Amino acid sequence: MEGLNEVLFRIVENDQDGKHLIAIRDIPAGKVIFSESPLAQGPSPDHPNDDDICIICLSELEHPKVCSNCFWPVCSSECGRSSRHKMECATLAACARESEEDLLPLRHLLVMRCLQMKHRDQYSWEKLLDMEDHHGVQTLIRNIEDELSDMDRMELKYFIRESCGMGIKSELDIVADIVQSSSIQVECELQEPFPAVYLTGGLLAQACVPNTVLRFDRDQKYLLSAFSGRKIAKGEKLTFCPLKNLIRTGTRERRRKLNKRLINCFCDRCTDPTECQSHSSAFICQKCPPSNHGGQRPGVILPRNPMADESEWACQICNYTMTSDTADKLLHRLRDSLEATKCEDSEVKFKDFLRTNRDILHPNHYLMVACKESLFNLKTSDARALDISIADKLEAVDLGLDLLKLVDILEPGLSEMRGKLLLTLGTTLQEMLSQEIMNRMESPDQAELDERHIYSAFHDALFCFEEAKKIQRLNKTAKGREVYSTIKSSIHVLKDMKRDFEKSYNSGTN
Ligand SMILES: [Zn+2]
Ligand SMILES: [Zn+2]
Ligand SMILES: [Zn+2]
Ligand SMILES: [Zn+2]
Repeated sequence: MEGLNEVLFRIVENDQDGKHLIAIRDIPAGKVIFSESPLAQGPSPDHPNDDDICIICLSELEHPKVCSNCFWPVCSSECGRSSRHKMECATLAACARESEEDLLPLRHLLVMRCLQMKHRDQYSWEKLLDMEDHHGVQTLIRNIEDELSDMDRMELKYFIRESCGMGIKSELDIVADIVQSSSIQVECELQEPFPAVYLTGGLLAQACVPNTVLRFDRDQKYLLSAFSGRKIAKGEKLTFCPLKNLIRTGTRERRRKLNKRLINCFCDRCTDPTECQSHSSAFICQKCPPSNHGGQRPGVILPRNPMADESEWACQICNYTMTSDTADKLLHRLRDSLEATKCEDSEVKFKDFLRTNRDILHPNHYLMVACKESLFNLKTSDARALDISIADKLEAVDLGLDLLKLVDILEPGLSEMRGKLLLTLGTTLQEMLSQEIMNRMESPDQAELDERHIYSAFHDALFCFEEAKKIQRLNKTAKGREVYSTIKSSIHVLKDMKRDFEKSYNSGTN
């Protein structure tokens, strides 16, 4: 029996990690560790247009509509009269826009809503302040100049103090830091992602190979469920990374992005020059002689200290070194060449990049991976899947299997990324198999794959679907459950196909 209220974690605090969560028993993969509703949410800071989104439910507005009291955009009288809006309506009424061209500072609403807790919900307010510096030694310490040049923070302060007239001083920076470093991006189907503050989820420790997976349910007011993404041992820290597409990042770039969230990551991936043996940032050494078999050169160039921006880079074999400046310039040039290439056919462009740079970048370098992933997505897109050849599908499968090896290191277990990849890979294998079997039924001369190949494709496809099913199970939304049952029936179809193929193959050879 699965205990519904079994407590799996507790909050602890130490100098190293600040306030954080640890497992108090061994947790198998795929278990709900905790669920909670957000304390507050707000429009995304990246939202481009300010009057086409309801500030309460965050849904898009087809026609501009505003609250008749504060004149901020709301979708319906339901949202306008909600208790959540009542709390802020008077405050917002004081800072309605002065002219049509004025943009409403939607991006500051989340901090404003958190600050409102002070006089409305003492319990939540104290819990919120508990999140201060909870990243421990991973909290980024900013110098005065950085703080003074932070225009966004200046504007936020002006909005809160002057426009809203909220008499909050000392806690303003604390709460703004908490929102910046610990808010969580909520991602739901058919909705633009937006930030929200969760009082327990916000305490997850930062790591770039996290052990939890977060899911959100739009129909349950953005309830967050934190699952164990893999087996977690008793005493282990519960970790999370706010960045997406972790296989497409290298330590320097990833740490820069995390710095913007006031996090200075010291995780196992960030401190290891090989990034857990993924070699996501590695260059291939041009000074090492090519290996005997004419294959790739053996040496890879890695930063001596990946945490230091000025660190020297060195070849692991011949000790050739380059400055961080040279490494940066090389990388910029390659990234520019990838982004600038104007080519009608993206497939040609990505293949060109992979070919031209295979002697410069490690095959797992994040720029190579970005190319491989785009190529894989292109080849497996719905529009393309129908009419591409078996050879094309094989190429997509090889790309997918290659990416899967990397995902298994950097986003292992039940991560969303791994789920998506496995599902696409399984589907492509299944389509390839049915195409091959149909061709063979028409005429045996049309066989393109040998039997060994077909059996291994069946094996891989079943593996992909079974794994994808475990991951899809975590998605409890209506759409999520629909995909889950599609995967289940794909497994049935595949097993039937395999049985039929075995039968006809055996009768054919006997
Ligand atoms: Zn609304
Ligand atoms: Zn209002
Ligand atoms: Zn890290
Ligand atoms: Zn070398």
